[in-house]
Amino acid sequence: PRKFFVGGNFKMNGLLADIDRIVDHLNAAKLDPNTEVLISPPAIYLLHVRDRVKNGIEVAAQNCYSEKQGAFTGEISPLQIADSGIPWVIIGHSERRTLFGDIDSVVAGKVKAALEEGLNIILCVGETLEQRDAGETLKVVEHQLDCVKREIEPWGNVAHRIVIAYEPVWAIGTGKVATAGQAQEVHADTRKWLATRVGQKAAEETRIIYGGSVNAKNCVELGAFLLHFSVSVSMGETCSYVCPYAATQPDLDGFLVGGASLKPEFVDIINSHL
Ligand code: 13P
Repeated sequence: PRKFFVGGNFKMNGLLADIDRIVDHLNAAKLDPNTEVLISPPAIYLLHVRDRVKNGIEVAAQNCYSEKQGAFTGEISPLQIADSGIPWVIIGHSERRTLFGDIDSVVAGKVKAALEEGLNIILCVGETLEQRDAGETLKVVEHQLDCVKREIEPWGNVAHRIVIAYEPVWAIGTGKVATAGQAQEVHADTRKWLATRVGQKAAEETRIIYGGSVNAKNCVELGAFLLHFSVSVSMGETCSYVCPYAATQPDLDGFLVGGASLKPEFVDIINSHL
């Protein structure tokens, strides 16, 4: 079974005192031992957080460059991230893609370089509202995955080090969370993509997590699988029931949380798994 995974992406938020408050709150909290927990502070605080964090919580960089070293002012290399004892890096976040020119080929190069340094990766994919409205969601996500796959062949050898985060662009920071059905559709298709393009083992072991306006209120519903069933009540008559929270969505293996990861409710999201 895949271990539930909840990541907190702080983005460019928090000063040192805020970061300390968040980390101390997480350190003191009772966290579900069956959930893998990770936080991703701004790069300048990575080492500080690495030294302060407890409770089995892991730390991730929010980005990296695709070269080991050199004249790339302002960038951080996967080698430096690994050397700093930071085991994870987020790559391909939509903010990187849309604001900083991380097109598919750039994302693929970063994933390749990070894998070479032994880092674990949270690979973000997702469609814009325009693409969803045009019915292109699955095509877009599959294309984003294909671009990475071409670069890192064979994916199967490194599948255990890649978490895929489905983050629809229209749901990020907007308060417009995807429905459980919308997320499940993309997660199921992504798992199918893994099965056909990478292999059955990768499909079974890869965590596919959802990101986009996740909070303590909606996370339970997002993970819930609505059970529909009908019973015959008398000759020819049936009664239908919908039983929420009967089971978790089969292909939702966790969350990547932005805004809410800066708040105490992040603990509730970590502990939301049934
Ligand atoms: P929000 O949770 O703030 O919508 O951000 C999601 C996200 O981008 C996580 O990487």
